[in-house]
Amino acid sequence: AKDQGRNRFSYFTPSLQTAALARLRMTNDLRVAIAEQHLQVYFQPIVDLHTGRIQKAEALVRWRHAQLGFISPMEFIPIAETSGLILAIGDLVFRESVKWVKQWRQDYHPDFQVSVNQSPMEFQGDQERYVNWIQYLADQNLPGQAIIVEITEGLLLDASHKITSKLLQFRDAGIQVALDDFGTGYSSLSYLKKFDIDYLKIDQSFIRNLAPDSSDIALSEAIIMMAHKLGLKVVAEGVETTQQSQLLEQAACDFAQGYLFAKPLPPEEFELLLQQQKAS
Ligand code: C2E
Ligand code: CA
Ligand code: CA
Ligand code: CA
Repeated sequence: AKDQGRNRFSYFTPSLQTAALARLRMTNDLRVAIAEQHLQVYFQPIVDLHTGRIQKAEALVRWRHAQLGFISPMEFIPIAETSGLILAIGDLVFRESVKWVKQWRQDYHPDFQVSVNQSPMEFQGDQERYVNWIQYLADQNLPGQAIIVEITEGLLLDASHKITSKLLQFRDAGIQVALDDFGTGYSSLSYLKKFDIDYLKIDQSFIRNLAPDSSDIALSEAIIMMAHKLGLKVVAEGVETTQQSQLLEQAACDFAQGYLFAKPLPPEEFELLLQQQKAS
């Protein structure tokens, strides 16, 4: 207890202050970065495992800080959530995604879809925001099917009217819903029946150690089988090797995403992949 007291003075308090200052600075920098359009949206291919073709892309936000270089979303998304800036970020990622999915549907694939992430804090917010999104899609002459919204499992535990009505709002507009990071959270399977979800994204922690006869392949196979019985398609995240891809294909997994295919890319570079695919 004595040691704890000393630690609190010599180490804990100053570092808390430093951390608080760092957060404050990052919040301010982030606000400026949003205003000055320093955030970019990258796109990572989602590949149909049956055909090997890129069918969709996940939009992932990038922040290049003038002094610090690229800052990971793992660092700034939590700060964006506590400061409320996540709403502005989500809106800009959405609009940028709409801009590119429109072009890619015209030029490469009429059914192309872009998937956007929604933080729980964002998803639980004002219903009006998604009314605006749906209107924005209509203004761009795009069907809701052009967009997939990725949410996390935790949200569904709270089967409140707010959550359910937003999911219905999406469904009515044709916007599909994916359950992100599946297997890391509560993983109660009962809600899959209760809510209208279109995709399960198996978290990369299950994919990392996929090997024949491993417990992770057994788990993945079980998840895929169950998802299919419930009418959901499955996306495997973090696929890095051909062995993982082959095992997933054998397990009847529908889609895969990961460095094996491509890292998240700026839109102009992503488009080169679609060009190559069209030519081949
Ligand atoms: P996430 O939604 O699970 O996104 C997948 C993350 O895995 C991305 O990290 C992606 O770059 C990374 N990844 C993709 N393939 C591989 C692979 O083969 N191996 C490995 N090791 N990693 C791979 P990223 O872009 O750093 O994003 C991290 C998290 O930040 C995302 O996880 C998501 O939760 C959040 N995030 C990113 N962009 C947004 C956004 O626009 N809005 C919100 N709300 N959250 C976002
Ligand atoms: Ca995601
Ligand atoms: Ca994920
Ligand atoms: Ca559905």
